[in-house]
Amino acid sequence: MTVVGLATARGFASGPVFVYRRDGDLSVPEYSIAPERVDGEIRRLDAAMAETARDIRELIDVLRNRTGRADVRVFECHLMLLDDGMLRGETERHISEELVNAEAAVRRTADRARSVFGKMSDPYFRERVRDLDDLERRILKVLAGHDRHLSFDLKEPSIVVADDLTPSETVQLPRDYVLGFATNGGSNTSHVALLARALAIPAVCGLGDITSKVSPGDMMLLDGTNGAVTIRPDAKTRRQFEELVRRKREQAAEAATGRVAGRLRDGGEVVICANVHPGVPVAGVKEYGAHGIGLYRSEYLWLDRDLEPTEEEQFEAYSSAARFVATLPGDASVTIRALDIGGDKLVRGISRREDNPFLGNRSIRYLLTHRDVMRRQLRAILRASAFGRVRIMYPMVSCVEELRDAAEVLGEVRRGLDAEGVAYDRDVPVGAMIEVPAAALNAATLAKYVRFFSIGTNDLVQYTMAADRGNESVAHLYQPLNPAVVKLVRMTVDAAKSNGISVGVCGESAADPIVGTYWAALGVDTLSMSPTYIPAISNVLSRLTRADLDEYAKVPGSLPGDATAGEVLDACRAWLVSKVGDLDGILI
Ligand code: PEP
Ligand code: MG
Repeated sequence: MTVVGLATARGFASGPVFVYRRDGDLSVPEYSIAPERVDGEIRRLDAAMAETARDIRELIDVLRNRTGRADVRVFECHLMLLDDGMLRGETERHISEELVNAEAAVRRTADRARSVFGKMSDPYFRERVRDLDDLERRILKVLAGHDRHLSFDLKEPSIVVADDLTPSETVQLPRDYVLGFATNGGSNTSHVALLARALAIPAVCGLGDITSKVSPGDMMLLDGTNGAVTIRPDAKTRRQFEELVRRKREQAAEAATGRVAGRLRDGGEVVICANVHPGVPVAGVKEYGAHGIGLYRSEYLWLDRDLEPTEEEQFEAYSSAARFVATLPGDASVTIRALDIGGDKLVRGISRREDNPFLGNRSIRYLLTHRDVMRRQLRAILRASAFGRVRIMYPMVSCVEELRDAAEVLGEVRRGLDAEGVAYDRDVPVGAMIEVPAAALNAATLAKYVRFFSIGTNDLVQYTMAADRGNESVAHLYQPLNPAVVKLVRMTVDAAKSNGISVGVCGESAADPIVGTYWAALGVDTLSMSPTYIPAISNVLSRLTRADLDEYAKVPGSLPGDATAGEVLDACRAWLVSKVGDLDGILI
């Protein structure tokens, strides 16, 4: 069975499925196990059932004392179900015969019992379905651990199939074992997508209800380049897939040889940089020929922990990135983005619940209302600047006072370091991300306060179109080439040029051969993207001259005024294909 979704992170994978379900606030991983793990899983099951029984007994005691009555029949019934050898026996059988983990086995037992009870004519028994739901949830909760830390107990390389994954869930996955991601929801710019790209893990999002179509251990073929997965393929389909992967590998090797990233046919250049996360190997930055690190997403230091990383921990990470760019040729730098939490990047113990988190106290707003956090981060960044070229970038800027306030905090931090005699680069450039329409509209003013702009199209598109970047049901409105978005990008580029500051795009659209090339045509100096995406766009750029780019910039303007984003995209694609040939062969 083949299911089509969004081509979220390019690449191909084949392997067994690991199903990860989030049930309300409960994480339920389901996967297959090796025969030698059967005993261990049965012990986990027994321990969880014993703990669940203890919890229920305690609850019964509390209820008896509180109400003074023995109105605890429901829970006694749960205990009976638990003590009933059948429930345990059947679950154990799922583990030992079907070779699945304890969570999956509990699910299967409960599903079967639900279907038996549900069909009974006696309302008493039908009502037992609810007891089963409750009991199942209790056992799963104990199995998952109380602290809501995830048990991503992946023991063999697998394709992770999930409803959706938050950034903090994604960072807790054991990377060496993740072959690919396939999710019901999500979109090409959701943070799982970005992380998948940064880690060069292929992903397909927006698959609808893929979690209900697979069972743990099912074989899956995942094509992140075209956005499709095949479940339980036959031998012929597997062979065809392997052949496709082999061809694409050859193309990739060919695309990477002898080409300078971002070099145009006439010798001109679009600077190509890499987007990275702390903790992700930076080898790809060099391997794919990036000029430097155009976006260092510092918040990933926060995402898999409860507490703020210390200044020393931050310094360690930032200085290692600074040292790394010092080994690259030319004037390579690392652009460290200040803490960009909030929205869907929630940090346990730090993020507060907000009704509209994407419009809430996030990013630079959070930093300016938590100045100690900001000072510690800026100190760590400045100290790192003694080891390689560093730039500081503020995320989600929406008005000039934020830049003024940030400059004040940075001034304090500098004075502190000066007083302590700590070394740092006194000329560290400070820049603003342009991700909020207000910032783009006001770019001419903001440009007076910073040395560079970096346009974050992932957020700029979502805020301009009022379309959640992670919500597949509004993915059709997520249009980087919508005339409104293009106008804002143009305004930003023009404001940068007339104020003599540099401007780049570090949103995912920079990596799209049609859209990224269009930003270059509009005059953007730098395109920053996940390293594995560099060869494809470099391939396109290497076939164009600056004069071609000037011509390309005019394509949308040649369409009728009421052209849709889709029509603009089609016209851009047609122009590009006429110049560089078939784009499909270029997308690896
Ligand atoms: C963006 O919004 O385009 C961006 C690069 O930042 P992030 O994707 O991390 O929000
Ligand atoms: Mg952003």
